[in-house]
Amino acid sequence: MEPRSQVSFPEKKQEIQSQEADATVYMKFMKSHRCYDAIPTSCKLVIFDTTLQVKKAFYALVANGLRAAPLWDSKLQRFVGMLTITDFINILHCYYKSPMVQMYELESHKIETWRGDSLRSKYLAHIPLLISSPSSLFEAIYSLLRYKIHRLPVIDPESGNVLHILTHKRILKFLHIFGKKLPKPAFTKRPIQELGIGTFRNIATVQQTASLYDALSIFVERRVSALPVVDEQGKVVALYSRFDVINLAAQKTYNNLDMTMQEAVEKRICCVEGVIKCYPYETLEIILDRIVKAEVHRLVLVDRADVVKGIISLSDLLQAMVLTPAGIDALLS
Ligand code: ADP
Ligand code: ADP
Ligand code: AMP
Repeated sequence: MEPRSQVSFPEKKQEIQSQEADATVYMKFMKSHRCYDAIPTSCKLVIFDTTLQVKKAFYALVANGLRAAPLWDSKLQRFVGMLTITDFINILHCYYKSPMVQMYELESHKIETWRGDSLRSKYLAHIPLLISSPSSLFEAIYSLLRYKIHRLPVIDPESGNVLHILTHKRILKFLHIFGKKLPKPAFTKRPIQELGIGTFRNIATVQQTASLYDALSIFVERRVSALPVVDEQGKVVALYSRFDVINLAAQKTYNNLDMTMQEAVEKRICCVEGVIKCYPYETLEIILDRIVKAEVHRLVLVDRADVVKGIISLSDLLQAMVLTPAGIDALLS
C-alpha cells in the first residue's frame, strides 16, 4: 500500500462542468486531468544507479518502505527502466536451486548484470521505459493496462527529474476523492456479475500445501499480481500478492523457497487482516468503496462457501470505467 503520508492531493481548482450521468463521465474526467494532478505534494522517491548490487537494491526498497524505483544509467545519463518486486521474483525464480545452495547471482550481481543476463529474456517481454510526463490520466491508464505494468514514473519534461511513480491505486483514489462531485453513472448501481467486470475463468490460485517456489512459478508463468491461497475445497484462506514476496528480502529468508504457502503466509508481515472479498451480487459502487478503503489492488470474488470464483482488480475497474466507454480494450490486446 502507498504510505499514508501520500494520501493528500494538491488542491483542485477545476470544477466539473458536466452534470450528465452518462457512462463516459469517468473517461472524460481522466481525459481532463493530467498525471501531475494526481501526484502528492510530497513523497519519498528512491532512484537506483544500475551499478548498484541487486541485493542491496531490494534491501533499500524494504528499508524505505517502497515497492519500486526508477533505474538510472550513469553512462547513458538517462533513466533506462524500473526495478520492481516482479524483478525480485524473476531473479529468485531464475537462480534458486535449493535451501542448501546459496544464490551466488543474487549475492553478487549488479542491476546491470541482471539486465544484461541472457536468462532474463525468458522472464520479460522487453519494453522500453514507459513514462508519463504532460499526458492525461487517461493515457497513463492506457499505458498501465496495455503493457500490464503497475508503475508509471512521471517525469518533469524540463528538468528530466522523476516526480512520482503513478499506480492504479493512486489514480483510482484520485477519482474516488475528486469524482465525488461527479454524477454517478447508472452502471455503478448494477451488480458486478451482471456488469461482467473482472476475471471469472481460469483463476490462478495456489494450494496452501504448495511450496513458495511453486507460487513464484505461477507469478512468472501467469504474470498475475496475486494468488488466492486455497484449501482442498477451493476455499480461499489467504491472499498472497507479489508485494508479499518482498518479505523474503526483509526477513532474509529468500534462501528457503521450499517452505509451504501456509508457512509463507504465517511468516509475512502483512498490514491487511484476512482476505478482502466480494460477492457476485454486490454493486460496482460497493466494490469501489471497499477496494479504495482497503487500499488493496484486488478483491477476491467468492461464493457463499468462500470458494474462489473470480478476481476484480484495479485494472478491471479502470478498464470498465474509463477505457471501455472510449471503445478501448487494453486488457485484451
Ligand atoms: P510490480 O507489480 O511487481 O510492481 P510491474 O508489473 O510494474 O511490477 O512490473 C513488471 C515488469 O515490468 C518488471 O520487470 C518491471 O521492471 C517492468 N516495468 C515496470 N514499470 C515499467 C515502466 N514504467 N517501464 C518499463 N518497464 C517497467
Ligand atoms: P501493491 O500496492 O504493490 O499493488 P497489493 O495491493 O497487491 O500491493 O498488496 C499489498 C498488501 O495487501 C499485501 O500484503 C497483500 O497480501 C495485501 N492484499 C492485497 N489484496 C488483498 C486482498 N484482496 N485481501 C487481503 N489482502 C490483500
Ligand atoms: P492486475 O495485474 O491485478 O492489475 O490484473 C490484470 C488482469 O489479470 C485483470 O484482468 C485481473 O482480473 C487478472 N488477474 C489478476 N489476478 C489474477 C489471478 N490470480 N488469476 C486470474 N486472473 C487474474
